[in-house]
Amino acid sequence: MGIVRKTQSVKKILSEFQKAPKALSTLDLIDRLKEDYNKTTIYRVLDRLEDDGVLHSFQGHNGVKWYAKCVDCTKTNHSDIHPHFQCISCGQTDCLDVSVPIPNIPNREVSFSQFLLQGRCEKCLV
Ligand SMILES: [Zn+2]
Ligand SMILES: [Zn+2]
Repeated sequence: MGIVRKTQSVKKILSEFQKAPKALSTLDLIDRLKEDYNKTTIYRVLDRLEDDGVLHSFQGHNGVKWYAKCVDCTKTNHSDIHPHFQCISCGQTDCLDVSVPIPNIPNREVSFSQFLLQGRCEKCLV
């Protein structure tokens, strides 16, 4: 696989995130892109985009991995400490623009945190 092809797969995956402003699970992405790319390529591109501070990942219901676009992250500093919301009725999952305080715990250093809130989204509440 050459460099051009790699770049195309990166563009293609990013365009899926442009189309859908919400988070996408690896299952969604594989399903949308299965005509063009195999799973391995998709996982590799996602890993790389996460390393580059373009996407961040989190664990959803049933351990499924989700990805969403980062706002202010860089290669060295992922600053996505926000909760994610997953709708239990339609499955829509997105980033919440609120901050959750990380407690100061004596003798512990917190490196990562993950908050998954589950419930019903605005569409499913009506
Ligand atoms: Zn919903
Ligand atoms: Zn997020």
